[in-house]
Amino acid sequence: MLVTLRQILNLCEARKCAVGSFNTPNLEAVMAVIGAAEELDVPVIIQHAEVHEEIMPIDVIGPIMIAMAKKAKVPVCVHLDHGETLEYVCRALDLGFTSVMYDGSVLPFEENLANTQMVVSFARQTGASVEAEIGCMGKRETGTGSAGNGTDPDKIYTDPEQAKIFVEATGIDALACSFGTTHGVYLSAPKLDFSVVERVREKAHIPVVMHGGSGVSDEDFRRAIRSGVRKVNYYTYMAIAGGKGIEDQFRMGCIPLEKNGKKYKYCYSLVEGDHDEPVMYHDIVRWGTQAMKENCKKAMKVFAMKDK
Ligand SMILES: [Zn+2]
Repeated sequence: MLVTLRQILNLCEARKCAVGSFNTPNLEAVMAVIGAAEELDVPVIIQHAEVHEEIMPIDVIGPIMIAMAKKAKVPVCVHLDHGETLEYVCRALDLGFTSVMYDGSVLPFEENLANTQMVVSFARQTGASVEAEIGCMGKRETGTGSAGNGTDPDKIYTDPEQAKIFVEATGIDALACSFGTTHGVYLSAPKLDFSVVERVREKAHIPVVMHGGSGVSDEDFRRAIRSGVRKVNYYTYMAIAGGKGIEDQFRMGCIPLEKNGKKYKYCYSLVEGDHDEPVMYHDIVRWGTQAMKENCKKAMKVFAMKDK
């Protein structure tokens, strides 16, 4: 069933756990995430990031996400991830998204605050929830480029006092905080400061959202959730798992070759045990979907705090 972010967060508060929020820039990801949530019987968030517009327009995938959420056996929120312009946020609301994130974290604090207030007033008209961000998560959602306010690591942690002012002035439902995580594939082990989460909760009384779980251990995810994280954004490692699931099938038939002194690999598939059988596109999709689903289930179990 289709629900709002606030409804899911209320559940998570009661259960002292977090909800996974997964990017779904294709049909396969939507199916993998909802399928995993149904198998584990946990609520879930499927989200579309503005930076994924170039690989999948929101106008195409949005209605599919909403239709699949309505049909699901578990509560599903359809969320906009990192809406960077008010125009794009409004497009998501018009499509029927039940939650939007406005990300003005690279703007000056006052401008971010004013824009977020506007987003909250738009969202109230459709009943959608709002997530916003202060502080900065470093790289963008795709894991490329920099959206940072400089490179000093201390400066990128969310200030709990600022969080209190921001939350009270905007009336948002969830706040994305920077406490040492980063988007994309991690290059060095993240230095997490869980006290930032605790102090934001204490001052601002709001569910905290953790972005960029790359390189974070299961134990650190649990610690973050015990500190007050209630929504965890997750994508990179699910997407890599999908790619690897496909690669593994092809690897079954890889032979190293050497020709004219040049080394290369000849890869073929052993689908159905027949070397000559061509690979069908629908098989590739199935392998990828299955691998993403298994990866999601692992993450969901950690976020649900069921295996502590
Ligand atoms: Zn993010």
